Amino acid sequence: MERNDTTGSWDSIVIGGGAAGMSAALTLARARRTVLVVDAGGQSNLVASGIRGLIGHDGRSPADFYAAGRAELAAYPTVDVRDGTVTRAVREEDGTFRAVLEEHGDQRAKTMVLTPGMEYRRPQLPGLDERWGGSVFHCPFCHGWEVRDRRLAVLAEGAVGVHGALNLRTYSDRVTLLTNGAELTGPQRDQLAAGGVGLDERPLRALEGPGTDLRAAVFEDGTELPVDALLVKSYLHQRSSLALDLGATLTGSNEMLGVEAITVDAMGATGVPGLYAAGDAATSVPPSVAAAVASGYLAGAAASVHLAAGY
Ligand SMILES: Cc1cc2nc3c(=O)[nH]c(=O)nc-3n(C[C@H](O)[C@H](O)[C@H](O)COP(=O)(O)OP(=O)(O)OC[C@H]3O[C@@H](n4cnc5c(N)ncnc54)[C@H](O)[C@@H]3O)c2cc1C
Repeated sequence: MERNDTTGSWDSIVIGGGAAGMSAALTLARARRTVLVVDAGGQSNLVASGIRGLIGHDGRSPADFYAAGRAELAAYPTVDVRDGTVTRAVREEDGTFRAVLEEHGDQRAKTMVLTPGMEYRRPQLPGLDERWGGSVFHCPFCHGWEVRDRRLAVLAEGAVGVHGALNLRTYSDRVTLLTNGAELTGPQRDQLAAGGVGLDERPLRALEGPGTDLRAAVFEDGTELPVDALLVKSYLHQRSSLALDLGATLTGSNEMLGVEAITVDAMGATGVPGLYAAGDAATSVPPSVAAAVASGYLAGAAASVHLAAGY
């Protein structure tokens, strides 16, 4: 079996070549399926200096990790990984799939695996974007260890903010919740006080510090709170309408997790025959590279079994 790049017809097309997509492709390749992976090269953690909490790769640079994944896939003769963007995807009347690629024309497949990742929307505050993935982070499990015992703050409101700030106390005994003008309830304030977390409800003006380091949160009134690292609540949104266009559905927005994901079963099946999804785009758990690798593996296996059944 060889790559099927002359007719543009594959056993499976994987949309997105991050941890989930490459994991799905590897599983399909090892089952001797022809696979096209199309990747726009925008993995969400590329801005971070290292991937944390991934056993065997703890601290490895994301770019290095993705290059290693591509090198491993290159050893399999039935996989083709192409840089590019799928602009449209269609499920044809005969149940096959068609992907429209900006750079490589139409490609067809019997199955499709959606692994496009998510857009991480973060609060708008001057000085925040340039520190994202470093001194401003969204996941304590990914970045908490690196800022342990420092002066930490959490930028979020309501129950989400209280939960995030109390969780951050694991890493430091100097934690302040910043609500940026929103007020907490009495019981929420009591909860924070009992947990040893500071609270400041004043509106914020900006984040400041040298380069991408953080030294202070500046309030509208001009006063400052010294801060070395800031946890912000980010909300994950689909990067495109591909899943909906193909007939998949989205879960309702989960406020605490902050994710509106593609609905899948434990193996990544969307309910549309032949269509699978994995990684951040279909997650129902806190997003991570480890979870993306695992769910991609399962979706690849499920797509292969679907093909074996003769669909
Ligand atoms: C700043 C930051 C730091 C993080 N740090 C960590 C950490 O330390 N440890 C950890 O475990 N997790 C971390 N995470 C979470 C982790 O990065 C994600 O959970 C994981 O990368 C999800 O993998 P994925 O394959 O689902 O998506 P992604 O890695 O986002 O990959 C999706 C790929 O699909 C491509 N794509 C999208 N749409 C299309 C299309 N239409 N056509 C072609 N290609 C497309 C994208 O460009 C991208 O290359 C971090 C996240 C962020 C934002």
